[in-house]
Amino acid sequence: MTNFLPLVEKFHSLQGEGFHTGQSAFFIRLAGCSVGCSWCDTKHSWDKEKYPLIPIKKIIDEIKKARKKGASFLVITGGEPLHHNLDNLCQAINKETSEKDQNPIKIHIETSGVNKMSGNYDWITLSPKRHLPPKTYFLENFNELKIIINDKKDIDFAIDIKQEIMNKYQNLSSKDNFYKLDKKYYVQPAWENARGFSLTIDFVKNNPEWNLSLQTHKYLKIK
Ligand code: SF4
Repeated sequence: MTNFLPLVEKFHSLQGEGFHTGQSAFFIRLAGCSVGCSWCDTKHSWDKEKYPLIPIKKIIDEIKKARKKGASFLVITGGEPLHHNLDNLCQAINKETSEKDQNPIKIHIETSGVNKMSGNYDWITLSPKRHLPPKTYFLENFNELKIIINDKKDIDFAIDIKQEIMNKYQNLSSKDNFYKLDKKYYVQPAWENARGFSLTIDFVKNNPEWNLSLQTHKYLKIK
């Protein structure tokens, strides 16, 4: 387990995407990704060697400062954050941000699901990629599924992976089955891809169990 993590950037902003769009959040972007999506908009984060290893304690100091300024949750993103073992980070966040009149800050993670799970989270955004599907574990353990739509094959992938998830639920008890009602399904057009936009909008119009996610922070020209 690691006590240092390569950090690309940290910032306090609004969550731009998915279920928590528009809410005040503190982001830490960890370096390193070998998933290699052609349309990736954070390619600068791929090479972890380019970034300094930062002690977890220092990251937590920043989280505490942002919380005081109003951040209601932390988003761990990347890169692919689960390329790193995040057990120590999450344990330390839970311990250090818990005060007698305050619960620990909620921890969200955005992952493609290609690695083993580590850490513990209040919200998991699973954003699987069709060229490198997620580990089976994540198909049952996520809060929102977000598929990036770049071309028609991504729509097919969204349909297939949701079907795979539904097939898993058929084997669950009715109590466990209740959990599935809480899961959210999003399609999000790849940025500046007109074909992706029209495919996404048509898909949501015809499949009401899916929701549209937009990168609203990019429209707002904020981080
Ligand atoms: S998984 Fe995320 S960070 Fe990695 S290449 Fe794909 S979009 Fe980029």
